[in-house]
Amino acid sequence: MNEKNHILTIDDDPTARAALEMLLEGEGYRLSFAINGSDGLQQTLQSRPDLVLLDAMMPEMHGFEVCRQIRAHPLVSALPVLIITSLDDAASRLQAFDAGADDVLSKPYNELELKARVRNIMRLNRYRRLIEQAEQLNHLAKYDPLTSLPNRASLQEQLQQWVVNAERQQQVFAVIYLDLDNFKQINESLGQLQGDLLLRQIARRLTECLSAGDMLARLVGNEFVLLHDMQDQLDESDVASHVKHLLDAISMPVLFDNHEWRLTACVGIAFYPNDAIQGETLLKNAEIAKSRAKAQGRQQYQFFTAQMNFNLIQRLAVENQLRLALEHDELRLYYQPLMQLQNTSQPRLVGLEVLLRWQHPERGLLTPHHFIDIAEQSGLIIGIGSWVLEMACRQGHLWHQQHCPVHLAVNTSSLQYQQLNWLSTVDRILHLTGFDPHYLELEITESLLMESEAQENTIIHLLQNLRSRGIRLSIDDFGTGYSALSYLRRFQVDILKIDQSFISDVSVEPNNAILVQAIIAMAHGLRLQVIAEGIEQQSQCDFLKANGCDIGQGYLFGYPQPVEEINAFIQKQFKSSSSLIKH
Ligand code: C2E
Ligand code: MG
Ligand code: MG
Repeated sequence: MNEKNHILTIDDDPTARAALEMLLEGEGYRLSFAINGSDGLQQTLQSRPDLVLLDAMMPEMHGFEVCRQIRAHPLVSALPVLIITSLDDAASRLQAFDAGADDVLSKPYNELELKARVRNIMRLNRYRRLIEQAEQLNHLAKYDPLTSLPNRASLQEQLQQWVVNAERQQQVFAVIYLDLDNFKQINESLGQLQGDLLLRQIARRLTECLSAGDMLARLVGNEFVLLHDMQDQLDESDVASHVKHLLDAISMPVLFDNHEWRLTACVGIAFYPNDAIQGETLLKNAEIAKSRAKAQGRQQYQFFTAQMNFNLIQRLAVENQLRLALEHDELRLYYQPLMQLQNTSQPRLVGLEVLLRWQHPERGLLTPHHFIDIAEQSGLIIGIGSWVLEMACRQGHLWHQQHCPVHLAVNTSSLQYQQLNWLSTVDRILHLTGFDPHYLELEITESLLMESEAQENTIIHLLQNLRSRGIRLSIDDFGTGYSALSYLRRFQVDILKIDQSFISDVSVEPNNAILVQAIIAMAHGLRLQVIAEGIEQQSQCDFLKANGCDIGQGYLFGYPQPVEEINAFIQKQFKSSSSLIKH
């Protein structure tokens, strides 16, 4: 036996207690004692013994009453109690059983009989515990402990059953795959414990929305699956309204820590038998549709289509190849000139934007448009982004040593800023390469500044830390994102890069011209530098220069080029003018 069984003896008579101690400790039990009823009750609750030996006749509280109270308390109600009584008549014995005793022994007792009864009770005890454990294990195997909903294993089992039934009865059902948006961030800002409570609340709300016959399960983390019975008719609009109902329930505000949270979710839907006839495939297809919904933003839903499967297979292939691209040294950096437009007769090189390329073994040189989304969605962008920064800083340091003090603008993804170690990664790279952070610009996207409110302070702090190192921050593709200018007040940045879509017809389209003038004026008002992207014609350059745009970038000045080609350009520029722009 691993641990001695514990017996609590409640008896007011010291001689009787000593006798029991002698007798039962010799049998290998651990004994403790209480000298009256109320002390006994207290100890019972505190130490939860395996058995209580209870004297019936005690002053203050009678043993029967102690027994009754033990039975009434939910924590110890199932505790075995053996009452020892000096009343030998049948009526008293019955009274003892009535009070809840498991067994009754009359005084004076036969020692062998006492030992045997205690042994029996302990054996029954062990048996009961084993059954309880088995039940618990069984429950854990089928239910999610957090929400008490069926788990993935039960869902799979049920799904098989639904398929069998639907086939037999010629019926239709929907697999509805639901994934909460940005739950990882919410969990990080709330803390795991609160995040769990939030999930429970969502599970409860979803449960309240179920129609008769629906089955709801929680897969992992923030993913739920609903099986929705549709009888004999496939009616997409009916399912769509059911899904909208679920999404509405999720997005009702939740009050946590005096803060109102609004959760959203994305949903993918697959039908039996139209989209698949096997449970596993149905679930997979619903998940594919869910990923497609996610790619469209928050609070979206999508029905599965066969085309999605095809696209997914292609994407997965690219993702796998991209995973290897770093290892196989297939990524390249191209550099495109950034030209100072003001206070100079001729546009003058001040920096380079670093642009990623993938030298694909079969498809040739690929621009980011072919792979950057996949890199983001798969998380590969984090490793790739660090690689880009390191290679760029290495090259930048080399140029500085060759007396060409160029600024480098490196594109970054919002995902990198959500990593806890992004700042230390930047520090490590700066230290490793020796590149002067005052010459480094990190291009961020508007989406980073529109992240959930919960993250806002973390991001503000991170950006401040980067700027305190001398790094400058620029907002890339300005005007294409959310265009909510209020964020410029909350986040400190240094540069705005006006998106090329505004520049392309700036010299002919009056509306765009007015917009660009307004953006430049506003940026200057906020003491930000302005870079115009995508300048291809002299007339665009003239317009921008006349309106005070600080820096230009575009094919007019130079295409993105590999290091060997851009080298010549840089050397020529810096040889011809030794005076460089100060920032
Ligand atoms: P971006 O940061 O806005 O970069 C400017 C894009 O405009 C580049 O496309 C560049 O080749 C193109 N471009 C420059 N001048 C002109 C012009 O005069 N006319 C036209 N039509 N286009 C011009 P690219 O190299 O294909 O890069 C596309 C986007 O991919 C970048 O847009 C950037 O958002 C992203 N990207 C590139 N490198 C990286 C990287 O290392 N990390 C991350 N996260 N994103 C990157
Ligand atoms: Mg850029
Ligand atoms: Mg851009």
